Amino acid sequence: MGCIKKALIVGGGIGGLAAAVAMRQKGVEVDLVEIKKEWTVVGVGIIQPSNALRALSHIGLAQQCIENGWPFEGWQLFDNNGVLLGEVPTPKAENSDCPPNNGITRPILHSLLSEAAIDLGVSIQLGASVESIDQSVESALVTFADGRQASYDLVVGADGVYSKVRDLVFGHTELKFVGQAVWRFITARPKEMRWGGIYYGKNNKVGLVPLSEELMYLFLVTSEPGNPRKPNDQLHTLLREQLSDYTGLVGRLAEELKDASQVVYKPIEELFVEGSWCRERVVLIGDAAHASSPHLAAGASMALEDAVLLAQLVDESEDLQEALKVYDERRQPRCRNVSDACAKLVKTELQEWAGEPLSHEPGQVFAGALQDLARPY
Ligand SMILES: Cc1cc2nc3c(=O)[nH]c(=O)nc-3n(C[C@H](O)[C@H](O)[C@H](O)COP(=O)(O)OP(=O)(O)OC[C@H]3O[C@@H](n4cnc5c(N)ncnc54)[C@H](O)[C@@H]3O)c2cc1C
Repeated sequence: MGCIKKALIVGGGIGGLAAAVAMRQKGVEVDLVEIKKEWTVVGVGIIQPSNALRALSHIGLAQQCIENGWPFEGWQLFDNNGVLLGEVPTPKAENSDCPPNNGITRPILHSLLSEAAIDLGVSIQLGASVESIDQSVESALVTFADGRQASYDLVVGADGVYSKVRDLVFGHTELKFVGQAVWRFITARPKEMRWGGIYYGKNNKVGLVPLSEELMYLFLVTSEPGNPRKPNDQLHTLLREQLSDYTGLVGRLAEELKDASQVVYKPIEELFVEGSWCRERVVLIGDAAHASSPHLAAGASMALEDAVLLAQLVDESEDLQEALKVYDERRQPRCRNVSDACAKLVKTELQEWAGEPLSHEPGQVFAGALQDLARPY
């Protein structure tokens, strides 16, 4: 029967939508508020490692992602001239038949999740947010930004790194800039490219991620000491300059950059909320609780696992506090491992690009983290 009847999800990103779908499937009445008036998705594509697909299979959406994306076995490693150095197949998630990876565009993933939520009868309000949350033994009374009030058994903060729910209920957590940024642009996939590709430059790194029969995206990770502001109207020229050391496929792709609007630039920030992610009737999921650098492509997969597990726990338990305790116990160590591994990968890249000795062996960190993620959550 479960311990909640009515939940509010704050934030309609990957984590919030997955939680809304998972809870509706368990028979919970779900309201979702999303602060954006236009539900547009910023970003290019997303890598879904096998554990993300496993979580999506629990809410019936893995197959649709695969059909609308590009499943791939692992990563081919190249030097900056496109010479193949090796291949790293990545593990499949245990207890699932999902492929090792899937590339998909962010807008398609968003439509699959939002259409599923709408079909299941989630009540979605755009351009809306919470103003305050007053908790009692019986319920959480939420006052929305437009003055409306409603009571819920559970409020889920799925509102990303700048979470208002976190600030209101858990106090402020500082976001930390890690010293790197990612540049991304979407382009046509060469027919021969069937795996993901990583290209090692002298002081930066490029990735190519297949997204569909037609599309892929390029990402470039750079060291950005002091987090300098980049002029938006020059992003294409700046990215071309950063790629000037590359020949072969990456060099050719750089020549396609003609317009700043093709490029999405994002400084990398991380955050980990210390202590419990649950306070009485409020719980944090996804980036609101833990955001890592994208070095393992695991942020969204962690948000999906949070969402699916939370829905399962509140459905299986008669006692909300007990369910939330188990949520903390099962999610915190797993997310901490991701966060630590990503921090090590950032550190070793910065060391390598600065010509310093490496504090960790990045290949081992990467492989170990992927093995951990493949295990059940
Ligand atoms: C450059 C980069 C590349 C990445 N690549 C990958 C990848 O390949 N694979 C992967 O798994 N992860 C990747 N990630 C991480 C991934 O994007 C995030 O971990 C994931 O989007 C987190 O989902 P979320 O739902 O928790 O938060 P978000 O996606 O941030 O969603 C939060 C939502 O809440 C809304 N919101 C915010 N404030 C409020 C409010 N006050 N009220 C109501 N709504 C609000 C926002 O508008 C948004 O819609 C990457 C991240 C970056 C920065």
